[in-house]
Amino acid sequence: MADTGLLPSYQFPTDTFALDPGVADTPTLRRPAWIALFEFAPGNLVYANGHKLKNIRAFFAGGGRRVAGHADAGGQVEQFCFCDTCGFASRTIVNNCPRCNSPIARTAQVAMLESFEAEESTQITAAEDARQRVIFDRAEYVLDEPGRPSVLYSYDLVTLEYRERAQLLATNWGKSRRRGDRGERFLLCSSCGRHQPSGLTNQRLTKWNEDHARFCNGAVSDFILGYEFTADALVVPVPGAYLPPDAGDQENFARTLGKALAVGAQELLETEPDEVTYMAHRDGTDGWSIALYETSPGGAGYLAELASALGPWARAAHQRLFGHGCDKACYRCLKSYRNQFEHGRLDKEQVRGFLFALAGVPDTLVTADGTAGDGMRQTRTWLDANADGRQPAGTPIEHALATAIRVDGRLPAPTAQFEIHNADGSLLTVPDFAYPERRIAIFCDGFAFHGNPATLSEDARKRNRLQAMGWLVLTFWGRQILRDPARCVDEIRAALEHRELVRRDGEAES
Ligand SMILES: [Zn+2]
Ligand SMILES: [Zn+2]
Ligand SMILES: [Zn+2]
Repeated sequence: MADTGLLPSYQFPTDTFALDPGVADTPTLRRPAWIALFEFAPGNLVYANGHKLKNIRAFFAGGGRRVAGHADAGGQVEQFCFCDTCGFASRTIVNNCPRCNSPIARTAQVAMLESFEAEESTQITAAEDARQRVIFDRAEYVLDEPGRPSVLYSYDLVTLEYRERAQLLATNWGKSRRRGDRGERFLLCSSCGRHQPSGLTNQRLTKWNEDHARFCNGAVSDFILGYEFTADALVVPVPGAYLPPDAGDQENFARTLGKALAVGAQELLETEPDEVTYMAHRDGTDGWSIALYETSPGGAGYLAELASALGPWARAAHQRLFGHGCDKACYRCLKSYRNQFEHGRLDKEQVRGFLFALAGVPDTLVTADGTAGDGMRQTRTWLDANADGRQPAGTPIEHALATAIRVDGRLPAPTAQFEIHNADGSLLTVPDFAYPERRIAIFCDGFAFHGNPATLSEDARKRNRLQAMGWLVLTFWGRQILRDPARCVDEIRAALEHRELVRRDGEAES
């Protein structure tokens, strides 16, 4: 917190938002737009130069400071519609989502703002301060551009979709009561941009109106804050077959995977944190769609580089997450100050199997031209062709893994077909291999061999249950075991070492 991170403006050549602090000894503060959208939002507190500043006003882009021109006159405010089911967003207002056909539930006046004004806040005590910590409802969108060309990078498991110079919209929907709740939007005067705080008592509201009317005759209306920018984007489609069955777990999975890929990119390309970041949306059917994008204006071409190196990228992510011992997430892997809003959703064990599977895709890669949405379509086509149970399953694969463990010689022999029971004594599941004393369960089939969705979701449920009971669950896709058994053995070895570490830590603490 405090004023760390408030850097001088020259470090950000373009796309910064400004905050006029309203105190004489402090120059205008500047932050990169996608951060300022939240830190400079009306109603928020900013700490700078020993001052506690409360943001009271937004200047509509292009509008002069002294000129109280109407906000909607210069295109600074635009109406958008948003699909809650699939993350579709567009300036063209429609009744039904063209992507997933759901009724469009939300439209909003999006205020594209770049400067704000604060005043010193002297009356707020530390205790009130803590209470005033604001949670903003944030959402990012790849704007709809029907027929827009993209480049498809086809691997086993997924077809990545690269969109050069995509139109992106970052939004701040205003304060939300609890994380996950919809924001209450911002009440701003559409002439002067002054912010009317929410939840004022009648008396204070009257006073606010009187003060405002003294210098402005504009009317207050609700807005969301937006920042539209052009950036390369890379869409990673995740069909339902790869996801846990429970809706809440699916969002955790998607957000964890998005963040894992972002930190994997940071490792692989040696970039700064958050140079590549992500958004995640439901895709309108049973899947999720993760879009990675660059946050620096202009872009450095990172995403095309990542798209052509899925295996190394996923290996870097896997190493970043599992190269140390932590339970669900920590500041060494997935957490940062910036993503506090989603710390509760991060759980690296959820994505262990999928990241491992991505890490094992062959380097041979097919690219093709496509249009928006083709990545998910091709991924589903691949899945349909490969999830049919036509692949070798069961015994030959188990045999291959057992042989690899024996030949490697570093691991104790696992127990085959170990029965794991529920608390009431009923049989929960029988992993192909297990190290019961370390509570590690190994499944040798993975999602690609079950075919029907009911079995898939039943399996995922059992594995989640296992994790909840403290088991570490490793899932190997059969094809991987046959192709690269040594990597599977390394993964098991890392899991055993991790368990050993956790156990020792536990003993040291007790
Ligand atoms: Zn939709
Ligand atoms: Zn006004
Ligand atoms: Zn960690």
